[in-house]
Amino acid sequence: MPQTKFNRRDLVAAGLAAAGLAALSPPVPALGQGAALPLTPSCDGKTAVTRRQTEGPYFTPSSPLKPDLRGDGAGEMLALSGFVLTPLCRPVAGALVDLWHANAGGDYDNSGFRFRGHQFTDEQGRYQFLTRVPGLYPGRTRHFHVKVRAGRGPVLTTQLYFPDEPGNARDGIFDRALLMAISAAEGGRLGRFDFVIATA
Ligand code: FE
Repeated sequence: MPQTKFNRRDLVAAGLAAAGLAALSPPVPALGQGAALPLTPSCDGKTAVTRRQTEGPYFTPSSPLKPDLRGDGAGEMLALSGFVLTPLCRPVAGALVDLWHANAGGDYDNSGFRFRGHQFTDEQGRYQFLTRVPGLYPGRTRHFHVKVRAGRGPVLTTQLYFPDEPGNARDGIFDRALLMAISAAEGGRLGRFDFVIATA
């Protein structure tokens, strides 16, 4: 399998241009370092807090702190990024973002931490993960699981969805408000979702 790379135009579109292609290739701890900011969403103070969803049966606490969840697993690469914001659209620095999802075959790692990890938002409230597109399992459309928490504020537990996914219409949990913005990139996809959370 060739080394996955995202082209510069897609990175510009995602606001990641300054990170350069190398930043999206291993070693991924550089991911986002020095990256240009995506545009901070405008906000009228009435922005709804991101909707909660069920945690599901496969959450494992104490995931590792890491931005690269790809491991040696199969599946299409996906760079997921965005902001954590207050309802007034103020970036939340140091917010915990915990991501877990199924592998390309639709299975969760319930004994270890494959496709499980967390990060803290940077000074501009940004988070970024590099992972793979989750596979499907019976009864659900394609999704990520996420927990977000700022300081000692309440934990937001929710899920993120893919647009244009045939299973969305058949999934009773699916919520359009939780659709990521997905764009194609060379060798993978870019996903964008901004969380709006209550802060303590
Ligand atoms: Fe799930």
